[in-house]
Amino acid sequence: MIRFPSPTGTLSFFHSEHHFSKLFPSCIRIPTSTGIPFPDVARVGCIMGSCGSCENCKQDLENYCPKMLWTYNGQYEDGTRAFGGYSDKFVVEEHFVVRIPNDIPLAGAAPQLCAGITVYSPLKYFGLVPQPSSDKHLGVVGLRGIGHMAVKFAKAFGARVTVISSSPSKEKEAVERLGADSFLISHDHEKLAAALGTMDGIIDTVSASRSLLPLIGLLKTSRKLVLVGAPVEPSELPVFPLIMGRKVIASSAIRGMKETQEIIDFAANTTPKTLSDNGKKPF
Ligand SMILES: [Zn+2]
Repeated sequence: MIRFPSPTGTLSFFHSEHHFSKLFPSCIRIPTSTGIPFPDVARVGCIMGSCGSCENCKQDLENYCPKMLWTYNGQYEDGTRAFGGYSDKFVVEEHFVVRIPNDIPLAGAAPQLCAGITVYSPLKYFGLVPQPSSDKHLGVVGLRGIGHMAVKFAKAFGARVTVISSSPSKEKEAVERLGADSFLISHDHEKLAAALGTMDGIIDTVSASRSLLPLIGLLKTSRKLVLVGAPVEPSELPVFPLIMGRKVIASSAIRGMKETQEIIDFAANTTPKTLSDNGKKPF
């Protein structure tokens, strides 16, 4: 267990940050059980606890543990609530602390612990990462926080990326700033028709209910539409076009601590050109 103080107001909403030795020399530092020295900077991501013994926890899927504790508004066993970045003191098990290498700007690391891992994990798990011998054309639906990350990671993995958005004004940002290869307006039926059956996978980041039929149509046979946005109202899911193309609807939500650390290490070792839109490492 690590206990460290942090003044009110210095923590972000989800991604509390702590400069152990530089800013808080009085904090208690307990060596890890592995003997690995703890870094000067650590962050807490979306989750800060789980049971540690269920099937999910044993497979590094703490995010799907029935007793998973959200960093913000999670409920402890005694009924009290976690206040996340609004807390003036933070107690968290060492297992749920993410190491931040010194060469990653903290402002850039924060979104990776939520929006970043939300797309990084399904890109890998659902086989959407291009292999050396194969090209992949991926669609990213929506270009807000999670969509930004989806484009950056898909490009970093070497995929061809088409951004699909209802806002024509997003095209310049998608192509010129984020490096997307093409842009589709979701209500441009003519261009959607021209793109039918061209995509190897789609990450849908939109949190608004609508028909999923146009996205299913963009997929090649046997490919996957991965939902990471969470509409309150149910979306319309036509089954017939799924059956006729053996297409798959999948979903994903953040990920456990092992892969959350992996995404930070990946960003630290990825060249600035592929992950940055301002020439600075990494996001
Ligand atoms: Zn568990």
